[in-house]
Amino acid sequence: MQSFQPPRRVLMGPGPSDVSPRVLAALARPTIGHLDPEFQKLMEEIKTALQRLFNAPDHACVPLPAPGTAGMEAAIMNLLEPGDRAVVAVNGAFGGRMADMAGRAGATVVTVDHEWGQPVDADRVAAALAEAPTKVLAFVHAETSTGVRSDAATLCGLARKHGALSIVDCVTSLGGISVDAAAWDADIVYSGTQKCLSAPPGLSPIAISKRAQAAITGRKEKVRNWLLDFNLLMSYWGGEGGRTYHHTAPINALYGLHESLVVLFEEGVQASTVRHARTHEALVAGLEAAGLKMLVDEKHRLPQLNTVIVPDGIDEAAVRAHALKTWDLELGAGLGPLKGKVWRIGLMGASATPWHVRLCLTALCEALAAQGLKVDTSAVLAASDARLAG
Ligand SMILES: *Cc1c(COP(=O)(O)O)cnc(C)c1O
Repeated sequence: MQSFQPPRRVLMGPGPSDVSPRVLAALARPTIGHLDPEFQKLMEEIKTALQRLFNAPDHACVPLPAPGTAGMEAAIMNLLEPGDRAVVAVNGAFGGRMADMAGRAGATVVTVDHEWGQPVDADRVAAALAEAPTKVLAFVHAETSTGVRSDAATLCGLARKHGALSIVDCVTSLGGISVDAAAWDADIVYSGTQKCLSAPPGLSPIAISKRAQAAITGRKEKVRNWLLDFNLLMSYWGGEGGRTYHHTAPINALYGLHESLVVLFEEGVQASTVRHARTHEALVAGLEAAGLKMLVDEKHRLPQLNTVIVPDGIDEAAVRAHALKTWDLELGAGLGPLKGKVWRIGLMGASATPWHVRLCLTALCEALAAQGLKVDTSAVLAASDARLAG
């Protein structure tokens, strides 16, 4: 065997995003014991920082030791018991994954299905909640498979009105657009490190409300998975000094998350969302100047995940292959019904900069020209630059 040397890449797909040298350096610091008092201080700092980032001062916030999907699984397996009714809004791949998990938890699952590319329809969700007593409403805030933002405040409000607990997937939203667990009055909100936090994949920050905690401690039967059982987990991540061994925290990965939070707060959470919005506008201005069209209506677009319709006669995969080979640039493909029909361009965290926008537009224009589509690269870049200057 030989040491693995990854190629240099620029990551503009649906995640992971570029990881900054600061975060990479933090990951390489010496490993210490997970019960070391210095490590426990780090754990406390991360909990407090996550409460601040989710705006969840009254929620229990911890990073789960596995990628974003673990947050989803923890939320669903902790809240749902066999026979409970769950309403799951499905407007893309991740809503579908939530519905699958809720079924595995033994719940009676009612899905509210949407065409891919549409936001969750609050009226239809309200109708599903009104049909029968419901334990959980689950939905995705930022659907990465389509690039659509749904109205989390309204949907969490509906859950409250109907006596249901809300689960909000914020894997792609956190750090890129506003996430506000307190204002939404959301019960479980979870995210991942590899999207707009720009740390490597492998951790899932989660916030759990007092209401949700009471529902979990009051369960009739034990949570069916052990690692993510909130009752056991909090004996480890709970109050300072009272820690008992549960699992061994991914120590160096937590150094990385901690550094990514330091970086985010240095910039300012609000400033970061403004940066995502501005780079998104610059990208779209360039794409439109190239004659390309966006899948999602302007008012529902996510700045951090841009879904671009592949023009007729263009080989979708060949464009991505060209970008990777010639520019070391990773772009995302479509999933499910959008496979072969769209590109997904991520502007997440450290990948949301004017430099990334220019690189992506240049590579796209070149790849389209290679397939015979006429595009004026300098006009495309000028349109994008003008939007950033404006
Ligand atoms: C990426 C993503 C997930 C899953 O996160 P992993 O880190 O891949 O496990 C879940 N939900 C949404 C909306 C995502 O974008």
